[in-house]
Amino acid sequence: MSFSKLGLSQPLLDAINKVGYQKPTTIQAKAIPIVLKGSNLIAAAQTGTGKTASFVLPILERLSTGNTERKKRARAIILTPTRELALQVNQSIEAYAQFTSIKSMAMFGGVDYAPQKQALIDGVDIVIATPGRLIDLYGQRAIHFDEVETLVLDEADKMLDMGFIEAINKIIARVPEDAQSLLFSATLSNPVRDLAKSALDNPEEISITKHSASKSNIKQWIITVDKDMKSSLLSHLLQQNQWKQALIFIETKHGAAKLVSQLEKRGIAAEAFHSGRNQKVRQQLIESFKAGEIQFLVATGVAARGIDIENLPAVINYDLPYPADEYVHRIGRTGRADAAGEAVSLVSKDNFKNLCMIESRLGHLLERVEIEGFVPRKPVPISILNYVPKHRREEER
Ligand code: AMP
Repeated sequence: MSFSKLGLSQPLLDAINKVGYQKPTTIQAKAIPIVLKGSNLIAAAQTGTGKTASFVLPILERLSTGNTERKKRARAIILTPTRELALQVNQSIEAYAQFTSIKSMAMFGGVDYAPQKQALIDGVDIVIATPGRLIDLYGQRAIHFDEVETLVLDEADKMLDMGFIEAINKIIARVPEDAQSLLFSATLSNPVRDLAKSALDNPEEISITKHSASKSNIKQWIITVDKDMKSSLLSHLLQQNQWKQALIFIETKHGAAKLVSQLEKRGIAAEAFHSGRNQKVRQQLIESFKAGEIQFLVATGVAARGIDIENLPAVINYDLPYPADEYVHRIGRTGRADAAGEAVSLVSKDNFKNLCMIESRLGHLLERVEIEGFVPRKPVPISILNYVPKHRREEER
């Protein structure tokens, strides 16, 4: 399958070529024809699947016949949960639309209104906005929705988690009834489905497998274990499995250093990577790890954010990450380009709430394993899916 078979015109194909994509990803091959023909769509797809281009490209195609006719209007609105995502989507649009006359803007809160209002007066075709700021500007009559042809709800699950439902509903109620609606979400949880029901008439549905948040080539599982047995369990795993390399995530730098010395006592060479080590040492560690000279790297989640290593055979969460998105991000470091990868998490009873959040985010329970000799005395209960604790909603607001 090539992009040219999908019904995109030359200016977009030239841009795709310039950006360097060889062929459409699975979601793009599925979604582009559906969006091009004007249908509504609900898609379960995770970041990293190429989902952005899967709706941006056909929207650009549909809009390419003209420009927004009046000031303070847009023909496509893309709602995103965060400012960062709005900026990122806008950047993608600018790249894909570089050979067209289509204009876009990112719109989000926490900054001056004036430049955003001016951009709307100057004229845009696509607005990528966080829901709160968009409805705010709508209330100020800085934007009108009567020319909207397509509305996209991107990362719908995250927008709901962040408490945007009211603003989203207001926007849905105010765009023209015949506008095309597209909803993308990592998981199709019940609240997301409820939103889809109210926003999308007769949608087509795509799911990049049920385990899309968990790419199917990544084998994920958790091992339940008592907290005080984690370090000996890890040694056991590293000795039993034939992992060529593994990146082991741990919460604190003190913990990282301690774990490395515990592993060393059991004859396993590992290195600790955390903010307590100077930049030069960290850089060397990364290079050695990339070169395969270090087999096991024990890293704190914070320090590891900057590690640009993909294609790992195994990622081990010695401690479960928080928030749940961080889990998805971490496991994404393995199983790149459809290679097989493994992601294993050690979970003790005190991690229960965190586990609930991660499994809710994924939309399914993770396979559980108990290892002989490490069966927990304190069992970990089965998670409640769709679990969003109150404090988290408040934190993310
Ligand atoms: P997304 O899932 O939209 O966040 O995209 C993830 C990454 O995949 C982005 O860095 C895109 O630039 C890249 N990408 C999107 N489509 C393709 C493609 N067809 N081929 C290669 N890379 C792509």
